Amino acid sequence: MSLRLRGVVLPGDEQRDLWISDGKISFEPVPGAETLTQRGFLVPGLVDAHCHPGIGVHGPASLEEATEQAIQDRDAGTLLIRDCGVPIDIRPLQQRDDLPRIIRAGRHLALTRRYVPGLGIELDDPEQLPAAVAEQAAEGDGWVKLVGDWIDRGIGDLAPLWPDDVLAEAVAVAHKAGAKVTAHVFGEEALPGLINAGIDCLEHGTGLSDEQLDVLARTGVALVPTLINIENFPGIAEKAIKFPAYAAHMRALHAGVGAMVSKAIEAGVAVYAGSDAGGMVEHGRLVEETEALHRAGMSREQALGASSWTAREWLGHDGIAHGAPADLLVYDTDPREDLGALRHPAHITLRGAVVS
Ligand SMILES: [Zn+2]
Repeated sequence: MSLRLRGVVLPGDEQRDLWISDGKISFEPVPGAETLTQRGFLVPGLVDAHCHPGIGVHGPASLEEATEQAIQDRDAGTLLIRDCGVPIDIRPLQQRDDLPRIIRAGRHLALTRRYVPGLGIELDDPEQLPAAVAEQAAEGDGWVKLVGDWIDRGIGDLAPLWPDDVLAEAVAVAHKAGAKVTAHVFGEEALPGLINAGIDCLEHGTGLSDEQLDVLARTGVALVPTLINIENFPGIAEKAIKFPAYAAHMRALHAGVGAMVSKAIEAGVAVYAGSDAGGMVEHGRLVEETEALHRAGMSREQALGASSWTAREWLGHDGIAHGAPADLLVYDTDPREDLGALRHPAHITLRGAVVS
């Protein structure tokens, strides 16, 4: 079935007609198309740049649960997910036309006892990292996820997992295989090693200094701050009774995250929206992250771009263009005027089909 839509195409202010046929957008009329909408705002499918379809509240999810999570994300407007490490093989989800597109990063690479148990591949020796990266680069869809720092219970605080030279080799191995590397990082100490290794993206990045943000801006390293997940830091600190230094550190990082992201935006760092759904964050909350980015200093349009067209371009996916896959959202009112409008899409089309 072919569809005809009329509306303002974002980004921009052009009101136009477009058609959907064979899963693709056409700017040329398609005869016999049924009208889906006559007015409204047409937005490229939202992007959750840090999401874990396959992690549940109790750890690895079943494939059924992962499917439910992806549906929850889709119904909230997310049509493209960059998974940021998933403990199960979610390739079957990529076979389903009714689920968001997923860019897989494979499994988190961590060390024994240095990450959430059961989620990542737990290496015994940091020296094993480059080989493990090569393996994940071959398995995934162009991204590899490292755990850059985590609590070291011996020290009682956050500490890096990997020596700097190992990181440099690991990133080089990924790049040689055509994959990009991103890392979970909360604290300050792991950052120089990750940045100097030539990493492509940082997740959370709560410990980033102003000087480091300038470096990220200059070198094009992306940042996905996952602000709605950072809201969990005080709760994590509360439970860490045995590790007072760690608890104080997590509270301080939480207290500074607003200023860090605001500085990142001001410095021109490529900041993208990621909900970190899975585990501590429910799926389907990307709009809240978009609003949080706006509160941190992005204009509403920038924040929407960071959750839609800007993020799509970063990940190599088209926006609304002739011949592009028909993954788009229709809103009755302009979400650039009120991001809350994103909670109520009038229509969602994914691969050209109307869903939900
Ligand atoms: Zn995550």
